[in-house]
Amino acid sequence: MSFRSHMEAALQEARAAAARGEVPVGAVIVAPSGAVIARAGNRTRELNDPTAHAEVLAIRAACAAVGAERLPEHDLYVTLEPCPMCAAAIGFARIRRLYYGAADPKSGGVAQGARVFAHPQCHHVPEVYDGIGAEPSAALLREFFAARR
Ligand SMILES: [Zn+2]
Repeated sequence: MSFRSHMEAALQEARAAAARGEVPVGAVIVAPSGAVIARAGNRTRELNDPTAHAEVLAIRAACAAVGAERLPEHDLYVTLEPCPMCAAAIGFARIRRLYYGAADPKSGGVAQGARVFAHPQCHHVPEVYDGIGAEPSAALLREFFAARR
C-alpha cells in the first residue's frame, strides 16, 4: 500500500513547517493517477493568514494544478486531525478519502468537537481513515510545543 509513503511525505512537510517556526502540520494531495500533485505545511505565521493551514494550502495548490474548484477522486493525507475549517474545505473540494495521523482533542473537527462530516449540512463526506502514522505526527507536535514553553 502506498498510503504509508504518502503520509511520510506529509510528515516531511510537517517537519519543514516546524523548521520555519510554524505549527508542524503537513498535508499532501494525491491524484487519481497516484501522483502527489500538491504538498504543503502550515504557513499561518509566514503569510500572516490564520487560514493558511496545511490542508487549505494543499487544496488551493491542487485545484490550481488541476484547473478546477473540486478534486473528486483525489485523496488528502494530513498529519493531524483537520480542524473544522479544514474539514469544511475538504468537503467543499469533494476530496474522496481523508487520511489523517494524530487525533487533535484541542482543535480537531472530524472525530470530535464540531464533527463537521456528521452534519446533514455537510454535502460531501469523504471516506475517513485515522491513525495513519499517528505516533510520529504527535511526537513532532509534542516536541514543537515543548520547545516553546
Ligand atoms: Zn485547519
